[in-house]
Amino acid sequence: MKIVLLGRPGAGKGTQGKRISETFNVPLLVMREILEAEIERGGDLGERIRGYMLEGKLVPDEIIFEVLRRELSSRDSFILDGFPRTIRQAEWLDKVLSSDGGLTAALYLEVDEINVLRRIMGRLRCKWCGRYYNVFFDPPEDIRRCECGGPLYQREDDRYEVIKKRLDVFNEETAPIIEYYERQGKLVRVDANENDIDAVWRRVKEAVEALTSHQ
Ligand code: AMP
Repeated sequence: MKIVLLGRPGAGKGTQGKRISETFNVPLLVMREILEAEIERGGDLGERIRGYMLEGKLVPDEIIFEVLRRELSSRDSFILDGFPRTIRQAEWLDKVLSSDGGLTAALYLEVDEINVLRRIMGRLRCKWCGRYYNVFFDPPEDIRRCECGGPLYQREDDRYEVIKKRLDVFNEETAPIIEYYERQGKLVRVDANENDIDAVWRRVKEAVEALTSHQ
């Protein structure tokens, strides 16, 4: 099973991707985490990546392809969160997978823009385990600490100015690939507007089950 997750920033790709990965036993590749690992490693490449992320801009394709190629090689199943984000990236992925059966599906988590703003601006992340909370819909017991004990923080790119930019980038660069996968007959839409993670998960799970039963 090879699935890409599409959706606006804050659509729940991270949360739902993790559940798909655990339930269906498929490795989850999160583009942002791959980039963050590169930043952690330090060096010029990491610094350049950090600069783009802080401005809410897309990291240039050449960098993305280089780091992702390493991750994709020798995997016969995966869920990809955060990639592709442009038509060029979608075409690159098709080429990389062409000798290997191709992509199973693109799962599109549909959420309205206004809803996404509420979600992202209330979002807190655990520094240790990566879990997300939301101060409006899913508050932690202690606003400073995760269940696991790790400190909670707001992601640098979750500030309002950055979110606006990221939403623009989605509308301009990423929205066209929804049509791209629709034309290929690979698009699966899931309504992800409800702020109840479990309710959205039931729909996502059903959609993935339908995909696995077709394989
Ligand atoms: P995300 O958490 O998936 O919204 O990603 C956070 C940031 O990482 C984005 O705003 C981009 O700067 C960068 N990024 C993640 N995935 C990609 C990608 N496929 N292409 C270019 N930049 C990316």
